[in-house]
Amino acid sequence: MVLFSASLAAETEMPKLVLQLTVDQLRGDLPTRYRDRLGEGGFRYLLDRGIHYSNAHYQHANTETIVGHASLATGSVPAGHGMVANVWYDHELGRLVYNIEDPDYHLLSAGAGVDKKTEIDPTLKAAGVDGRSPNAILASTLSDEMAIHFGGRSKIFGVSVKDRGAVTMAGHAGKAFWFSKSTTEFVTSSYYYPKYPDWVKEWNLAKPAKAFANTNWTLLHDRSTYLFGDSDDRAWETSFPGFGRTFPHAFGPSDSKYFGTFLTLSPAGDKLTLDFAKILIEKEELGQDEIPDYLSISFSSTDYVGHLFEPSSLEGEDNILQLDRTLAELFTFVDKTIGLDNTLIVLSADHGGPETPGYLNSLGLKDAHYFEPDKMDRAPAMMRLKQRFGISEELITKYYHPYVYLNRELIAKMGLEQADVENAVAAELMKFRGISMAVSSSALASNRLPDTLLMRSVLNNYNHKRSGDIYLVFEPHVFINDMDGLEVAATHGSPWRYDTHVPIFFAGKGIKSGKVHRAVTPYDIAPTLAALLGLKPPSASIGEPLREVTGN
Ligand SMILES: [Zn+2]
Repeated sequence: MVLFSASLAAETEMPKLVLQLTVDQLRGDLPTRYRDRLGEGGFRYLLDRGIHYSNAHYQHANTETIVGHASLATGSVPAGHGMVANVWYDHELGRLVYNIEDPDYHLLSAGAGVDKKTEIDPTLKAAGVDGRSPNAILASTLSDEMAIHFGGRSKIFGVSVKDRGAVTMAGHAGKAFWFSKSTTEFVTSSYYYPKYPDWVKEWNLAKPAKAFANTNWTLLHDRSTYLFGDSDDRAWETSFPGFGRTFPHAFGPSDSKYFGTFLTLSPAGDKLTLDFAKILIEKEELGQDEIPDYLSISFSSTDYVGHLFEPSSLEGEDNILQLDRTLAELFTFVDKTIGLDNTLIVLSADHGGPETPGYLNSLGLKDAHYFEPDKMDRAPAMMRLKQRFGISEELITKYYHPYVYLNRELIAKMGLEQADVENAVAAELMKFRGISMAVSSSALASNRLPDTLLMRSVLNNYNHKRSGDIYLVFEPHVFINDMDGLEVAATHGSPWRYDTHVPIFFAGKGIKSGKVHRAVTPYDIAPTLAALLGLKPPSASIGEPLREVTGN
């Protein structure tokens, strides 16, 4: 068996490790925006030695983290993999649910779950339990297909600060670890392990995060060299108490309640992720035999920095330059332990991200503004509509991006047709300033909508069990900035180009360098990897192998 496997690997020139990197909210233009100041061996390695797709766009409307990660993992749109939003309303449970929450499992560390008092990610606050699993992902992932193809002998891991960034990529067959902001440890759930592997226990006991205590996020280079060096203090940036709006950003003492959070709002979160991943590669002996292994690392800092400060900020600029150094350190380590020539690297992002209305307004893009969704149900037009249907109670029970949820019980009780009410509400919502399109789910299900790119992206997002009643698309540069009480600077999640645009790089084993400008999609990544490894594509995959990578 071993001999057979060895010769199989040699014949097909398998990589020893597939290293799938995801940078949360890395918009397609960002790797090259500060090109002249990139160091050696990070993005420059990918740009000079790899294939760079500069025109890759998602084709689903809700460009959020779980949706993008699941799409990278499965090569499919949400209609196929089922992850339609970070949070959706579960009609059976009668409450909002967080994408990968699972009551059948629990976190292996007590007290490491979401602390609702200090958690700033509103989607995590929607979780009803601390257990996590990939069971809500309805399709197989590339990593699952590796497990199936290689008889369960591929080692498969996913690591990220965000649970959803780790669990998605590890798939149903791999193991996932993510960062607890409460304890600053990397944790996992009982889905994956009955107890922690020794090396994880040791890493956590050593408390590496403490090295950042009472230090600051400071600029990597001299301030005068930065594009945004003169504009650190801007009114629209989020001024998180203790962390502030300007450099240096203080992490504070390790026992302060926001210490773990502050680490994730800066390049420190990525550095800790890298440190954990390096130990994982070593202790789990990844890439050391002829059966290809799989490691996904999803770096989350770029997303948090984007939300708080926006990509076009001094923080955003410094974060990219620091991410470049983190990648260089990772590639050097992989070269030393496995060899870059034995490793197939792919880097992309789960979504792009926008600039803030404040910055856009200052440059003359005056339409950019924040939208207040709370007012929808009480707007005069909506009141008239409710009168027409004879409804006095709340008709819109919930707006949770991207879906409006109607009061289905009330509609049924009044003897009204759900589709009629959905379409009437959608028609009214479309008259609101700032709303570009409101598409009812019954209209999507009936498939009687115009065949436009935008409409197709909403349809690609539609899953009849999970999608809400009306999909809301705001105009370009119109955002909701209230993240459950915390006002942030920038929010992604739209079908517009700044949110759909991501980079794709392939590098390492067998890859010849090149730059490709033709339109491709991130759904192509999983089928490309499958083709290179000789696997069947993931079950719901819609992408096609990229010919510059596969060689034909
Ligand atoms: Zn994200």
